[in-house]
Amino acid sequence: MSNLADTPRDPRSLNADEAERLLTGWGHKSYRVTQLLGWLYKKRADSIDAMSDLPQGLRDQLADEFSLRPLELAREQSSRDGTVKFLWRLPDGELIESVLIPASIGRDGSQSNRRTLCVSSQVGCAYGCTFCASGLMGYKRNLAASEIVDQVLAVERWRLAKGVDSHRPEPLVNNIVMMGMGEPLANYDNLIRALEIFNSPWGLNIGARKITVSTSGLAPQIRRLAETPQQYHLAISLHGATDAVRDKIMPVNRKYPLEELISACEAYQQAKGRMIWVEYILIDGVNTGPEQVEALSCLAKRLQCKVNLIPYNPVDGIELKRPSDETVARFRDGLHHLGVRVTVRTEKGTDIDAACGQLRLKSEKKPAPSQALGQAG
Ligand code: SAH
Ligand code: SF4
Repeated sequence: MSNLADTPRDPRSLNADEAERLLTGWGHKSYRVTQLLGWLYKKRADSIDAMSDLPQGLRDQLADEFSLRPLELAREQSSRDGTVKFLWRLPDGELIESVLIPASIGRDGSQSNRRTLCVSSQVGCAYGCTFCASGLMGYKRNLAASEIVDQVLAVERWRLAKGVDSHRPEPLVNNIVMMGMGEPLANYDNLIRALEIFNSPWGLNIGARKITVSTSGLAPQIRRLAETPQQYHLAISLHGATDAVRDKIMPVNRKYPLEELISACEAYQQAKGRMIWVEYILIDGVNTGPEQVEALSCLAKRLQCKVNLIPYNPVDGIELKRPSDETVARFRDGLHHLGVRVTVRTEKGTDIDAACGQLRLKSEKKPAPSQALGQAG
């Protein structure tokens, strides 16, 4: 495992209070704090030297303690449906990915203005779900808050360089889902720090309701998240509605079985007064039986939540399959008849392996070209 402890900190994990303490502690006026935060999060500076309206003395002080280490674009893949997948190289050479999912047309024909970035929280993942590419590669390390934040900033820098949507004055990304590589709640402190930077007016100013944390079911951390004041959205990766099925495909269930998970979800809902989403991947012959429909409907009613069904996206090296369209329809209709609000999400970017961890997995097998790939289709 790499050790980042000795390297200077990246300032893009500073919150407003820390920036204030730091700069006033050095004897600078408070307005310098606003300037610094503006350079970090609004103007997206990629070096301390670029912060041209800060006095040289302050820039030197900052450079003594901090260093901006922007993510380096290792690979970029565009899908026919407009999804763009980014593979980033971290300062220690590790690779992570983010997926940009552009606005789409809603069911009622209206144009949505939601431009989502799917963000990674760790390099690899320790939780070893049997269906997941991130699980397959094992755990390497947590991302620093700055590395979580810079995934969004880097996409904005990419957009500027490429002239994407250049008519739009506001930032490209206006919706964040922590559904990339890794288990966000296992990197709790850095996650909360990054979410604060996403959410704050001095940061990226993205509303808490536009930020979703997805978890495989870390019950104690769900309870901790329930105590934060922000109205972040919570998505649960359920993928099995009984302990027997969940135990088989998600080892985390042996630590926090369903009852413990569901009661943590209830606590979250009570604290926030907000609906939770349940995500359920449909894997052929594994979790698509009628007993799962029955059990899932009970859990969904208990949580009064919406269920998102996602046909499994096959992964190289994992012997699991996407079920037939008939099986998906039967599962959906079964839930619907039992009174559950259910949608089938057609995964975006399936032609570029947009499920988490897949691009990195492929890039580890054969070295990735450093240039953009353009249209993959
Ligand atoms: N660790 C967190 C967040 C990252 S995974 C979690 O598990 O929720 C984001 C989502 O992608 C999860 O719901 C995960 O189960 C799902 N996923 C993983 N591999 C997939 C695949 N091959 N096809 C479809 N969804 C997948
Ligand atoms: Fe980790 Fe989530 Fe993948 Fe499970 S589904 S291995 S928790 S990233």
